[in-house]
Amino acid sequence: MAGLYQLYRLRELGLSVRVFESGAGVGGTWYWNRYPGARFDSESYSYGYSFSEELLQEWAWSEHFSAQPETLRYLNVVADKFDLRQDIEFNRRVTAASYDEDANRWEIELEDGSRACASLLITAIGILSAPQMPNVEGIDSFQGDSFHTSRWPHEPVDFTGKRIAVIGTGATGVQVIQEVAKTAGHLTVFQRTPNYCAPLQNGPIDDDTQRQIKASYPEIFDKCRASHGGFLHNADPRYALEVSPEEREAFYEKLYGEPGFGIWMGNFRDIFVDPEANETISAFIRNKIRERVKDPAVAEKLVPTDHGFGTRRVPLETHYYEVYNQDNVFLVDVRETPIERITPTGIRTSDAEYAFDLIIYATGFDAVTGAFDRIDIRGVGGQKLKDKWADGPRTCLGLQIEGFPNLLTLVGPHNAATFCNIPRCIEQNVEWVTGLIRYMRDHGYKRVEPTVEAEDAWTEHVYEIATRMLFYQVDSWFTGVNPNVPGKQKRTFLLYSGGAPAYREKCDEVAANGYEGFVFH
Ligand SMILES: Cc1cc2nc3c(=O)[nH]c(=O)nc-3n(C[C@H](O)[C@H](O)[C@H](O)COP(=O)(O)OP(=O)(O)OC[C@H]3O[C@@H](n4cnc5c(N)ncnc54)[C@H](O)[C@@H]3O)c2cc1C
Repeated sequence: MAGLYQLYRLRELGLSVRVFESGAGVGGTWYWNRYPGARFDSESYSYGYSFSEELLQEWAWSEHFSAQPETLRYLNVVADKFDLRQDIEFNRRVTAASYDEDANRWEIELEDGSRACASLLITAIGILSAPQMPNVEGIDSFQGDSFHTSRWPHEPVDFTGKRIAVIGTGATGVQVIQEVAKTAGHLTVFQRTPNYCAPLQNGPIDDDTQRQIKASYPEIFDKCRASHGGFLHNADPRYALEVSPEEREAFYEKLYGEPGFGIWMGNFRDIFVDPEANETISAFIRNKIRERVKDPAVAEKLVPTDHGFGTRRVPLETHYYEVYNQDNVFLVDVRETPIERITPTGIRTSDAEYAFDLIIYATGFDAVTGAFDRIDIRGVGGQKLKDKWADGPRTCLGLQIEGFPNLLTLVGPHNAATFCNIPRCIEQNVEWVTGLIRYMRDHGYKRVEPTVEAEDAWTEHVYEIATRMLFYQVDSWFTGVNPNVPGKQKRTFLLYSGGAPAYREKCDEVAANGYEGFVFH
């Protein structure tokens, strides 16, 4: 999403641009995540690019929350319509990038050993693009099929009658479990952390609704623009504890019955900051789980107890909890009985040995900084980005890094795009970066870098806001904790939680003040 749009804008400036993409086609997230059940949690029509009225009118989403194949088709249509492929090299993984100070340019190294150089280097490498396997022994020894959800085969996988394991119950795990359970002979789910899942309430878009959507794109995007997270949902102005318990319950019930992230993004404004307010919605969802899962012992395993609602990414589901009422589905709580190893025939936990035909790793990603860590990025004086970020990222606006001149990081850590209906924030990021490059060209500047002070101030600001939020007190990819990644056990903070409107305002102010906080040569 980010790379395609940035390419489009840079071409308009008449620059020579080369995009390196490790996949064999366009689409990023939607190219890689082909697992059954993969689909939007954003309303489809709030997710597409807004920059071309023609594209908006030509393209028709078929569902309120479209599935991966449709989104991949959409991004291919975009690439063709704007003739973007000619500047993209596919199957080209960047492994290293180092800044040559004398020449003021970036030297880029690719997996096949070839090299390229550039006066400006823009990363559009995604926050959920570095797949992460679980940290268990024996993965390679398994003799059946096994797939990470983000590296799913391009051919259909048949589950009929098979003994299948799914490891992981995050947003992806939930989507894949509810799909696989439909045809699997037997499905065993290995859960470490139960999440608060809420109904997606998806449905097809009929012709009338399609016409309404196409006629109201300006309002749709205005609404997203005004909301904290770039979604069609914005926080309710009321506080959870100022209304009566009956009114509160009725409001939660209404949100639970509505489509999308309303229950997360459109809830009472204090549920993210006040533990008592948060407990009211957490208790509501816990009760829903207990109502929907027939076996009370299984229900209790699915009920989160160590964090509050919305403090981790909320998975949206369609009959997810009912899956556990099926005879062919079994839940293993790996906090009670940890996985000891993957064996040639299946999975061994501390108390049992399970045999499988197929293991699905829904273990997610080394989020936000993972794609950066997988490239050896070196700035001025050979400083490694990985070392600079060893105690957590430090950036200016999540878009540039002191000591790494002419490197721009779309959707980078501490950028509002990390906690956003991402394309809405991608467009802002790309337009700001394009403006910066135009400014450099107009002024004859060849080098840009933020000051230490500007970077420190932004990083402090990110933490000042984050520390007020309840999700700062919870281990999750938001706080940079991933037990499967060595060195990522300590809490930092990877997002910007001050909201897209405040972020946009700050970026605009910096630009209006001659890119205050940035040094040009
Ligand atoms: C299953 C799933 C569902 C999602 N649903 C939503 C949703 O409903 N709403 C929402 O807002 N967001 C959603 N997201 C987040 C999603 O990642 C973004 O919406 C969006 O795709 C981000 O676009 P991007 O261009 O920043 O990154 P990506 O789409 O991740 O693209 C990054 C690209 O960089 C390439 N790359 C990375 N490293 C290298 C390298 N070293 N060399 C060469 N190429 C490299 C990757 O191959 C990839 O193609 C979802 C994510 C997942 C995984």
